[in-house]
Order: sequence, then C-alpha cells, then structure tokens
Amino acid sequence: MKNVLILGATGSIGASTLDVIARHPDRFRVAGVTAQRQTDALLEICRTHRPELAVIGEACDARGFVDAMREASPATTVLQGEAGLVQAAEDPRVDAVMAAIVGAAGLRPTLAAARAGKQVLLANKESLVMTGALFLQAVRAGGGGLLPIDSEHNAIFQCLPADAMQHPGRHGVKRILLTGSGGPFRTRAVETLAMVTPEEACRHPTWNMGPKISVDSATMMNKALEVIEARWLFGATAGQIEVVLHPQSVIHSMVEYLDGSVLAQLGNPDMRTPIAQALAWPDRIDAGVASLDLARVGQLTFETPDFGRFPALALAYQVLAAPDSAAVTFNAANEIAVGAFLERRLPFNAIMEVVDASLQADDPRDLADVESVIAADARARDIARAVLSRRN
Ligand code: NAD
Ligand code: MG
Repeated sequence: MKNVLILGATGSIGASTLDVIARHPDRFRVAGVTAQRQTDALLEICRTHRPELAVIGEACDARGFVDAMREASPATTVLQGEAGLVQAAEDPRVDAVMAAIVGAAGLRPTLAAARAGKQVLLANKESLVMTGALFLQAVRAGGGGLLPIDSEHNAIFQCLPADAMQHPGRHGVKRILLTGSGGPFRTRAVETLAMVTPEEACRHPTWNMGPKISVDSATMMNKALEVIEARWLFGATAGQIEVVLHPQSVIHSMVEYLDGSVLAQLGNPDMRTPIAQALAWPDRIDAGVASLDLARVGQLTFETPDFGRFPALALAYQVLAAPDSAAVTFNAANEIAVGAFLERRLPFNAIMEVVDASLQADDPRDLADVESVIAADARARDIARAVLSRRN
C-alpha cells in the first residue's frame, strides 16, 4: 500500500490524482491533503478519503475548520501554514508526495519531501526550475526518488531506459523533442493579443488546467519552464532540447537517439495518464482514460515555434546560459505578471515584457543553497513589481 500526500489537493492535478487513487483502493491510500484556503473543498475530500492529515496552507483562523473536520473526518489532524505543509511532507506515515501546489509556494514542502526520502511525484515544475541542482541533490540525499508528472517529462521518462534519470548521457540520446500545443493563440493575429481577456487565455484548446498554467500555456512560458525542467530532470544540455509545436496534443514528447530512432509517447490529453504511470511505476494500471482513437484524430501535425510570437522560448535558452538566479527571476517575474494579468491590471502581451524587463534589471548570480534561492525569489518579485508600477 502506497500512502500518498497530495500537496495542492483542491487543484486540477489534485483532482486527477484523487480520481486515479479512488480507482485503486488496493494499491493507494490518501494519507494527507492540502489546499491554500479552499476549506469547503478540502472538507469534502476528507469526508470521502479520510486522510490522516489535512493542511490549510495559508495562515488563517482555522478554528471553524477544525470543528467542521471533527464532523467530516474525525481522525484527520489539521495543520496550518507553510510549517504545516512541511510537517505533512515529512510525516512518517507518508510514502509518496504528489507535489501539485502551483508556483514558488510549492518549493519548501516539495523540497522537504525530497529530503525526507519520500518518493516525489513532481507536477510543481516551478520548484525544480528555481532550485535546479539543489533540488536533485535533495532527492539524492533523501533517496526516495523523483518521477515527473508534467505530461511532456513523463513522456520523455517513458521513452528513456529505466535508469536514465540516474545516469543521463549514458544512453545515446541525441535530442529531446518537447512538444507543445501552442496554446489558444498559436494562430491569432499578434496585433490583437493586447485585447486578450483572462477568460480567453484560460480556455486551452486541448488541456483543462488551473488558471496560472493556462496563462503560461498561452504565452508559452509553460513550455519555456519545461525546457528548463527537462534540462535538470534528464541532464540534457540546452542544445539537446528542442520545442516542436503539435496542436493535437496526442504525442506528449519524443526522444531521438544517435542511431536516428525517435521514440514517442502518445495518448489522449488527460493528466490521469502520467499520474497513474508515476503512481504505479514500474507497474501499469487503469487511469480511467479513454483509448486513443487515432482514426478520429485523423492527423498529427508539427510546426517550428515562432520565437517572435512566443518570446518566452528565446528567454528560456538565455536563462539556461546565465547564472542560477536568472531562472529564479524568470519564474518569479512571470508569477507576478500573470497575477497582474488575471486581475486585469496588465495586458496579455505585456506579460513577457515584464519578465524580459525583470531579467534585464537583474544581476544574476550562482546560488549555493535554498535560502539563497528564496532570497533571490523575493528580490525578483520586488524587481518585477517595480517594472509593473513603472508601466502604470
Ligand atoms: P491549480 O491552480 O488548479 O491548483 C493549485 C493547488 O495549489 C490548489 O490546491 C491550491 O489550493 C494550492 N495552492 C496554491 N497556492 C498555494 C499556496 N500559496 N500555499 C499552499 N497551497 C497553494 O493548479 P494546477 O493546474 O493543478 O497545477 C499545479 C501544478 O502542477 C503547477 O505547478 C502546474 O505547473 C503543474 N502542472 C499542471 C498541469 C495540469 O494539467 N493542470 C499539467 C502539468 C503540470
Ligand atoms: Mg506540460
């Protein structure tokens, strides 16, 4: 029996994880769930899954929640704040942690899980982008292992030999072909992008996801973060990682080997597939996902991304060539800019301008430990807010 803590249980990945777990009560148990502040949703999840732990991530007056929990799931212990998230990640009753908090907020609990030797199922790409080598060190020191949930990285993982993440470079890999749908604005006239509303940006053509990653998909910042994520997960050089647009989202990524073979992983765009693959690895289990009907898909098409339309992609390669803190700034400035866009304080086409200007204003340096990463994140947020206020 694998006891799973779901960090970010009320989100889109959280819901898909709960769905897969509920299909296999003989294999998995929900040991803990967390949310930022969605107490009603968290209570409902606890009523169904009866976990040992429930954490409200945001410091708040939790008395009402504790009382309600006593009725909904009497054996569930309620914890609170970032310290509660970290405590849950380290809890001895937890075997595996689904890291599905969005953004830098996931960093401390995800790292705590890695250090504590939990198997880390990584959806929260932002924490790996921010910490890079430090994250991998924590995973190695903890010994619990790391499995990618991001559909592209999960696909690459499936196309590589089983030990490739421990010994990258040993397997004759030539290129990693990271596919991306191009999001909702792949073909929209560039001059109209200033008018895009949050509702339009969140309407992804093939995936159903939380608001931040949906906006990231529309700017292709998501793919940019994934380039950096792939660099760390698979020990690839920047030159080995290529982005290919594939609007149908049926091929989730590919690996090209030195002999010319290209291996791909295909499936319907449904996050329950990578979640089930990682939860059960090395076994295979039913994920509740419909069979891929290739005749109905009809055509798989591919394009080279336009770096003019999607400046995030060019920035990702600049960040990979720069000292460590550039990736922290890249992520933090994006979180600030996306927040402003979702609150209708910033036009869509200015999101990447704010990120670019924040990178320009920064003085990147190498980061020796996690506290330096967190300090760099705070500094980058100040820079991005200053860039934003200069615009207004
Ligand atoms: P979401 O917005 O739907 O859910 C986010 C979850 O994190 C919620 O449970 C929320 O309560 C929690 N949370 C947010 N801020 C928090 C904070 N400050 N403290 C504690 N908890 C907090 O997001 P999502 O779409 O499920 O994405 C989660 C992560 O998975 C992101 O890093 C995203 O990039 C990654 N991911 C998502 C998908 C997808 O299909 N949704 C695919 C690949 C990767
Ligand atoms: Mg992805």
